[in-house]
Amino acid sequence: MRRKLAAGNWKMNGLAAALSELDDVPETPEIDVLLCPPATLIGRMADKAEGRGLAVGGQDCHAAVSGAHTGDVSAAMIADAGGTYVIIGHSERRQDHGETNETVRDKAAAALAAGLTAVVCIGESEAQYKAGDTLDVVGDQLTGSLPDGAAATHVVVAYEPVWAIGTGLVPTMDEIGTVHAFIRSELAAWFGNAMAQRVRILYGGSVKPGNAAEIFAIEDVDGALVGGASLKGTDFAGIVQALAAA
Ligand code: PEP
Repeated sequence: MRRKLAAGNWKMNGLAAALSELDDVPETPEIDVLLCPPATLIGRMADKAEGRGLAVGGQDCHAAVSGAHTGDVSAAMIADAGGTYVIIGHSERRQDHGETNETVRDKAAAALAAGLTAVVCIGESEAQYKAGDTLDVVGDQLTGSLPDGAAATHVVVAYEPVWAIGTGLVPTMDEIGTVHAFIRSELAAWFGNAMAQRVRILYGGSVKPGNAAEIFAIEDVDGALVGGASLKGTDFAGIVQALAAA
């Protein structure tokens, strides 16, 4: 019912030579595979990815279609460069650029309007996790960040505990399962069960080839958003293969 998705986020890493990492990513027609390089590489990666069953996306877009926004990239520009997805509301954008749920929702709406699939990121901080506030925070971010009328097939939710990103720390499998089931139930309450069953919910935060299979065995985990381990084609390949086998 839901096609699994292995998504890589290169963040601010990668010059043209890094595109050779794609050569190590296997073709896996049974799942979707996505790489989001820096904006400078979207076009060249899209050219190289053609015919390999690999989608390419941006890491952020502006909420406006065009205009006086120096340094920003619009959703239509990502699509024009060959991208079909865009990550929105990554915790590093929320932290480094002060993005709020409202900003994220407007950007997600712009992405959908441009025909992109929006990978909307949510997740609690370490302090919120320790205070036992995870579900409250995730619920607020979810309802605050998704645009009304978001079509299930064009919105992907990525649950990324901020404290697990790039740290090597991972919640317990039970904790991941609880949050994913909660997200699915919140989506069902909002969009109806049929629609909620079609939304892919990714886990993100220190996913590696060594822990991917265990994470992908959790119910309601439909794939992963991967940072560090997506930079090396062979590491990302391990995660892609684990998802294809799940
Ligand atoms: C991320 O940045 O979305 C991420 C999950 O990073 P990492 O896999 O490196 O923890």
